[in-house]
Amino acid sequence: MRPPADDADDLGARLKAYEGQPAARAGTGKDPVNLPMIRHWCEAMGDTDPAYEGPDAVAPPTMLQAWTMGGLSGHTARTGAYDEMLTLLDEAGCTSIVATDCEQEYLRPLRPGDEVAFDTVIESVSGRKTTKLGTGYFVTTRTDVRVGRELVGTHRFRVLKYAPSGGRRKPPPRPRPVVNRDNAGFWEGVAEERLLVQRCADCGTLRHPWLPGCNACGSLDWDTVESSGEGTVYSYVVMHHPPFPAFAPPYAVGLIELAEGVRMVSNVVGVPYDKVRIGLPVRVEFRRYEDAEGALTLPVFRAADVLDALGDRGATGAPGGLGSAGAPGASGASGGEV
Ligand SMILES: [Zn+2]
Repeated sequence: MRPPADDADDLGARLKAYEGQPAARAGTGKDPVNLPMIRHWCEAMGDTDPAYEGPDAVAPPTMLQAWTMGGLSGHTARTGAYDEMLTLLDEAGCTSIVATDCEQEYLRPLRPGDEVAFDTVIESVSGRKTTKLGTGYFVTTRTDVRVGRELVGTHRFRVLKYAPSGGRRKPPPRPRPVVNRDNAGFWEGVAEERLLVQRCADCGTLRHPWLPGCNACGSLDWDTVESSGEGTVYSYVVMHHPPFPAFAPPYAVGLIELAEGVRMVSNVVGVPYDKVRIGLPVRVEFRRYEDAEGALTLPVFRAADVLDALGDRGATGAPGGLGSAGAPGASGASGGEV
């Protein structure tokens, strides 16, 4: 999408021609400066300054632009030059836009009853710039706000209109689990290829996901037991849409009921997504992922009976070797996913 250098220079020159052209001419505020709009603004902003209340109220200076806004129906004062310039940029591949900054200058406070008028000019167009977002042009407009003939303030607004960079990006890294104080122990176990289940130290109830307290008795004391890693598919969904960039649909997400009785959500692997069924026996497998963000270990659940029936398709984890305590040894570094 990036225009070649010569064309870009040509584009730059064509854009420069818009400097000084009016973007809006002889616009008028849709409402005079008024107390209800001032009050709504102050409520939205949480501004309780007494200067904006009472019989001698003035408008907050930062409302300057609000008095010139066209609302959903727009303004008739627009000249078309600004839209024309944006179209030129769109056609050159600079199809994205982001507001970068706004500067205002206040010459005198606005008061209820003031009727504002304004003119907007395309003040400047930068040369071609390359930013993190992409390559494009900064466009600055300046709106002069008047009451009668008196200039009361100016409003400068700058946008970057650009061709987004990285059209063909690498797939994003796999999302990381959110590790916090409550569940850190679970993820520490996973890093050691152990599936740890929380157990209430008072009533013995097992729980997952990890929580500070026991749902059964309210006790905050707990220890852990290591799961055998054996379980069955309690329920599942097959993700087709919407696609998440780090995953290739369709894939099965299972709610796995572990032999110990607690349930956890994970991927079901080792079986085509449309062969996943409620009641399917599975066993945990620890997978290591390497990407730009580093190494990550995640527990997934491999369909056990398919594995046993077909023999392992990969080179890892011979069927007979998957004893309940031996699950960690069964996970190859890159077990083939079906
Ligand atoms: Zn308990």
